Amino acid sequence: MIIHTLSLFPELIKNALTQGVIKKAIQNKLLSLNYYDLRDFGIGKYKQVDDTIYGGGAGMVLKPEPIFQGVNKIKSDNLLDNCPVILMSPQGEILNQEKAKSLSKFKDIIVIAGRYEGVDERIVSNLVSDEISIGDYILSGGELPTAILIEVVARMIPSVIGNTESIESDSLTNKMLKYPVYTKPKIFKGIKVPEILFSGNHKKIFDWRKQKSYENTKNKRPDLI
Ligand code: SAM
Repeated sequence: MIIHTLSLFPELIKNALTQGVIKKAIQNKLLSLNYYDLRDFGIGKYKQVDDTIYGGGAGMVLKPEPIFQGVNKIKSDNLLDNCPVILMSPQGEILNQEKAKSLSKFKDIIVIAGRYEGVDERIVSNLVSDEISIGDYILSGGELPTAILIEVVARMIPSVIGNTESIESDSLTNKMLKYPVYTKPKIFKGIKVPEILFSGNHKKIFDWRKQKSYENTKNKRPDLI
């Protein structure tokens, strides 16, 4: 899969993705990341990308032309016709495992990171296929949300996570939280690992985990049940 990003601060995205699972996915050629700098498509001598808001109001808005040109360049460089063009936005659909899985099925996706007071509305209405939010709070720019989207989508690409079982049992994959997990030592500060996990009885362990997963969800995220 190839994820193309268009942003004012490509390094911010890149720096968040240099280690661990993403690094391996890139080395194993399961994922490729292309970074386009919005400034390269800025207008005039000063490569202007933003301007004041019509009708008044504080702050600046990203102009439509540089974003349109940037996306066109990504499409022509990579011979793309009909791939998703995603805008990271607090106004979007909130990112979840299901959305990430559906995006991971595309060969290419383009992700635009906003800044300032956001992007000119004509970008939203004429260029963007999906607006995605990473949660109900406001960041200063879409670069970190873009990095988060990349990490979440990449985990869904087959073989990126070595053991597929770990994605299947991840919290929220099946709209449930994961069961509690333990490692050595068997006793820590006087607290013992539940005895059933040493029983060797896979059916009993499976049932215990299912029950704990339900209890965890009921206690921490009752909205999911
Ligand atoms: N004034 C805009 C509004 O109220 O909708 C918010 C602009 S925000 C300061 C600047 C940029 O950060 C946005 O265009 C978006 O790309 C990104 N951003 C901020 N919060 C986000 C979130 N929760 N999810 C995704 N992107 C976000």
